Amino acid sequence: MIWLGDDPTVAKMMGAGVESVKAFCLCCGHLWSAPITFLPSATTLSKVTALMACPACNGRRVEAELVSFAKRRPEH
Ligand SMILES: [Zn+2]
Repeated sequence: MIWLGDDPTVAKMMGAGVESVKAFCLCCGHLWSAPITFLPSATTLSKVTALMACPACNGRRVEAELVSFAKRRPEH
């Protein structure tokens, strides 16, 4: 997990190579990944999770973890 401070904005997350978040539903345990690149750059992570609903149970208690592709090493 990447730590960018308490409540990073989309701009800050994308600056760190984050293109999506790994979302976790506290209601049913469903895990999915949600792209953040289409969101306004000033949207904060807490706002992102507040807007998300679980696609499996429609639960609104969602936690998100940042996923970065920036540190992934080239294969060749
Ligand atoms: Zn759920």
